[in-house]
Amino acid sequence: MYPNRSGPTAIPCRHKHSVNSIEDPTTLASGSKGIAKHRWGTGFMNSLARQMKIFTPLLQGLLVCAALAAGADKAFGEKSGSDFSPRDRKLIVSILRTLGPLIKDRQTAGRAPLLRWSELAHSLNNKQRLIIRNLRQYSGAAGDDEDPSRQPLVRLDDQYIRTNGQATAIPPQYVTPAVYDAYTRMSQDMQKDLGTALRIESGYRSPAYQLYLFLSHLPRYRFNIAKTSRHVALPGRSEHGSLHHLAIDLINAEGINGDDNPRNFSVLPEYRWMTLHAKEYGFGLSFQEPTIDSAFEPWHWRHRQ
Ligand SMILES: [Zn+2]
Repeated sequence: MYPNRSGPTAIPCRHKHSVNSIEDPTTLASGSKGIAKHRWGTGFMNSLARQMKIFTPLLQGLLVCAALAAGADKAFGEKSGSDFSPRDRKLIVSILRTLGPLIKDRQTAGRAPLLRWSELAHSLNNKQRLIIRNLRQYSGAAGDDEDPSRQPLVRLDDQYIRTNGQATAIPPQYVTPAVYDAYTRMSQDMQKDLGTALRIESGYRSPAYQLYLFLSHLPRYRFNIAKTSRHVALPGRSEHGSLHHLAIDLINAEGINGDDNPRNFSVLPEYRWMTLHAKEYGFGLSFQEPTIDSAFEPWHWRHRQ
């Protein structure tokens, strides 16, 4: 169910980090009609769950996904609707409502990419926390609550795009020193060649922030984990969480980032320049074509050195 292109972290990690761009979860949740309630898949997994006295639909759903990942029922993954019970879908919507203001505040302050697990869970009730905990365990991001701001990261301020004659600041982003150096050299050379340079719309993202992004995209993809994962990775599986081979999402000076259609970005001279020269600075394109596991992401470049 998850791509295995170049190791366990090679998962799409789309940069949709703007709360404003996220559709109203309430509308989407109520619009998720026709979704089977109990499509938890193989009898083996259900019997395992019963033996463990685990009956929460969420966990059963996650167990089925694990079975899918092991190739137990590939067809199921393609046809399935929601992986969550109606009750858990409501809980997820309530989590998004609760966290929305917090995330917005942190984005404004330029601190969203450094969100900690404890901050994510602070304002949630026990049922909501259980959803977070299960997803953390499922994604393998169940470790300690390390403070991302203690990592060796460089904060990028003063990045602007210009749309309709108006300059808009990109919220501060964080990258490793190696990526900062490589990106700076690359930008200077692109500027010389093209008279313009790409900005970093998303760099490092903490596991907690990555999980928030994943949750925020679940309603859009009918609460289906596989479909959501094509566009935004679970924590621990995103190249935006890697301190050794960090990925950056790029946006051009006019604000074109491929959000609506990847082709809008891939036809840019800046993208063509990247395909010719990015490797000289250690960057490689992670998701070069659409597959069942990942979408084509011409804006997403991983640092490989
Ligand atoms: Zn990305």
